[in-house]
Amino acid sequence: MTKPADFPPPFRAADYVAAPSDPQDERIEVGVLIVGAGPAGLACAIRLGQLLEEAPEIRDRLGEVPVAVLEKGKQAGSHLLSGAVVNPRALRRLFKGRKRIDEMPFYGPVEHESVYFLTKNNALRIPAPPTMKNEGNYVASLSRLGRWLAEQAEEAGAMLLPETAAEKLLVSDGRARGVRTGDKGRGRDGQPLGNFEPGADLVAKVTVLAEGTQGHLTGVALDRFGLAGENPQVWALGVKEVWKIKRPLDRVIHTMGWPLRPGAKYREFGGSFIYPMGEDMLTLGMVVGLDYRDVELSVHDVLQELKTHPLVRKLLEGGERVEWGAKTIPEGGFLALPKQLHAPGLLICGDGAGLVNVPALKGIHYAIESGSLAAEAAFAALQRGQTPATPGALSVYDDALKQSFVWKDLYEVRNMRPAFGRGFLVGGALAGAMTASKGRFPPRDLQLERDADLDLLRTDRARSYPAPDGKLTFDKLSSVFASGNKTRDDQPSHIVIQREVPQDVAELWERMCPAQVYEATETGVAVTPSNCVQCGAITAKGGRLTPPEGGSGPEYKLT
Ligand SMILES: Cc1cc2nc3c(=O)[nH]c(=O)nc-3n(C[C@H](O)[C@H](O)[C@H](O)COP(=O)(O)OP(=O)(O)OC[C@H]3O[C@@H](n4cnc5c(N)ncnc54)[C@H](O)[C@@H]3O)c2cc1C
Ligand code: SF4
Repeated sequence: MTKPADFPPPFRAADYVAAPSDPQDERIEVGVLIVGAGPAGLACAIRLGQLLEEAPEIRDRLGEVPVAVLEKGKQAGSHLLSGAVVNPRALRRLFKGRKRIDEMPFYGPVEHESVYFLTKNNALRIPAPPTMKNEGNYVASLSRLGRWLAEQAEEAGAMLLPETAAEKLLVSDGRARGVRTGDKGRGRDGQPLGNFEPGADLVAKVTVLAEGTQGHLTGVALDRFGLAGENPQVWALGVKEVWKIKRPLDRVIHTMGWPLRPGAKYREFGGSFIYPMGEDMLTLGMVVGLDYRDVELSVHDVLQELKTHPLVRKLLEGGERVEWGAKTIPEGGFLALPKQLHAPGLLICGDGAGLVNVPALKGIHYAIESGSLAAEAAFAALQRGQTPATPGALSVYDDALKQSFVWKDLYEVRNMRPAFGRGFLVGGALAGAMTASKGRFPPRDLQLERDADLDLLRTDRARSYPAPDGKLTFDKLSSVFASGNKTRDDQPSHIVIQREVPQDVAELWERMCPAQVYEATETGVAVTPSNCVQCGAITAKGGRLTPPEGGSGPEYKLT
């Protein structure tokens, strides 16, 4: 049987590690360099700002730019996409009364919630499993929350550098020195165009990788410093839409079951979320594990199918889709964590480290907490007489994370994701026992399999996808348009894959990609990279996403 892992991308992590090459006086020097303006990176910048405010002598030693945050999106928030129901615990700890929850851009607290098991025409309300209870949590658009956090980070003294992709990890004498940013203004074959701008070396005392899911340099760093854990990371793909609606939704809704198939052989693990965004909007999305096997499965189209269910259709009646987006979620949890989250001069936090609680569909508060702890570790290593480059100097970060609620939460649910590889019913029963025993069951941990290692199968899955009507259901190209993606279409391809692959693999990629980047041809696959919304699914399923020119990709506002 064919599997995507048999056609690995022509990608070598070592090609993305380099020593600083700009002449000394042309390098941009910063104190702490944070890659990624997501909740992890921005929390790190805010916490550093607080600590440096109380230690002006250290701030002065860090030079003109004590803290910088690189972001590949057009602005902070442009590439942020989540549900999102946010557990406010880490935000409260971060701001310690400096900002109250009611000053943060939330749509409101979760007041009611319902969980349904769906069949094609019916919805059976079931009690919410303990991991899915959301009392005390708040609904947000992560893109909007990210913009607000970026303002707080700037107020705290950080310099934000949007439209800037970190492309290479700078390493010399065995320690991370910073990053090299990607060139801008190259043509399709790599030739410099009139507006060409070369990348630059940004060197720092500490580099914090907060790149989120499928972090490009995070993968490179795990390889370079030998940090990978025992189990491979696995992912799910989430595709979501934001709708303007006629009647307000008064609850958060989660669904399981249809349109996914329960049979163990399909390995279709996932469900949907529907969250209110104030009185006149809601967001709905479908999340599906990327260990699925059917060549014809398309999460984009499964979401379209979901909207035809009477329960969902009713909520959207008379409404209008206003935004669309897609992103992967690292799902391996505790079992897939790297064995160490630091290296000399380097820290890794948030989704890049895989800090997501899958049964709860939560990662934002772990990203924020890990970012804050990374800031504290970096700050400690910058004290007089210390040097962050010494091997082990940043190990306090791993220690602090292990003492935190993040570790405890993830440990308790560690075997849930692999349990669902055995099918919905068996997985559900095992998950119940795991919850009741607070993670003491099963006595031996389960194993994860790489998403790309699953043999493919083919059913006529695609027959059930509804035809796009442009009102309730949409095709992929109109979805890409609704993501705000305006990527220049004559830039070099940032997607690394084998082009000559069997039909099954080519069609798998064509269906899987929510943004219509791949097209199966007679000899393999054709690629339209400018459609890409950088969801990361291709990296899970046999290819490799690298960051395109800074400023490319979606321009999310409400996701
Ligand atoms: C569909 C979906 C639903 C979810 N629902 C919830 C929910 O309801 N509640 C919850 O708590 N969590 C939820 N999550 C998980 C949550 O969104 C993540 O755990 C969280 O966003 C992780 O934060 P982060 O800062 O680590 O990464 P991200 O939020 O991904 O941010 C990383 C940032 O780094 C930038 N970046 C990456 N690489 C580079 C580079 N090389 N150079 C420059 N910039 C770079 C990216 O553009 C991005 O802005 C959901 C996720 C998805 C996909
Ligand atoms: S090309 Fe890959 S990363 Fe880009 S949208 Fe498609 S699946 Fe996602």
